[in-house]
Amino acid sequence: MRLCRYDDNRLGLVRGDTVHDVTGALDLLPACRWPLPAGDLLVANLDRLRPEIERRAAGAPGKPVGSVKLLSPVANPTKIIGAPINYDDHLDEAKKDQGIAYGRKLKHISEFGLFLKANTTLVGPGEGVALRFLDRRNDHEGELAAIIGKPANNVPTARALDYVAGYAIGLDMTVRGPEVPSFRKSVDSYSVLGPWLVTADEIADPNALDLELKVNGETRQKSNTRYLVYNVQRLIEYASSYYTLMPGDIIMTGTPAGVGPVAPGDTMTATIEGVGEMAVKVRAA
Ligand code: MN
Repeated sequence: MRLCRYDDNRLGLVRGDTVHDVTGALDLLPACRWPLPAGDLLVANLDRLRPEIERRAAGAPGKPVGSVKLLSPVANPTKIIGAPINYDDHLDEAKKDQGIAYGRKLKHISEFGLFLKANTTLVGPGEGVALRFLDRRNDHEGELAAIIGKPANNVPTARALDYVAGYAIGLDMTVRGPEVPSFRKSVDSYSVLGPWLVTADEIADPNALDLELKVNGETRQKSNTRYLVYNVQRLIEYASSYYTLMPGDIIMTGTPAGVGPVAPGDTMTATIEGVGEMAVKVRAA
């Protein structure tokens, strides 16, 4: 099942190139009062809503997915988690390029740990990326994003995929420079998630997916998730050994070689096998 959020917070089921409006299924979500439950309410209740989503899609005429404004399929994560240097070929390029490394001694992910991006960075592909600090290098990082489906605390790798609701394409946009990653990667709109959430049952092995990112039609990054240093299961084990992952939490699994700068007017097109493709426009903030 491919679920998108679009236009004025409509919920859509995507089949082929058509989005069916299933917003009415959200009526089954529990009514909430302050304090709101932690995490994304839709992702937390996805299994319960699935039959109603299917039922409504059957009666909804639908429109071309290209005609809607795609928002982030996750609305309310408690955390956006990043994995630093999680492909060997990206480590190699970072060591050679001081525009990436900035004099830092680059550590293995087992030493560096993970980082968090501000939740306010999150946008969908239809919203685009608004660049700040145009005098500095602003890079694309195309990544597989895993979306957590239920609270996960101290989860071993053998059971880790049981906690995944689905997958999406993530863009971990980055200002290069001397500041800590959590700051440089937390500019508004610097986390793009889309084009939709593909439920986990459609992805047999998240660690065997081709991924590609083009800028203005030119291929910049092209790899496969089999080259992840810490694969999806290990990232979930690693993250949940420190903090509880909540429904809707987003793990951006890291980027392969080929990161590079974008400028206002560029269009990034990211593709992941089994997930889909999304085009994201870049503008000045
Ligand atoms: Mn990244």
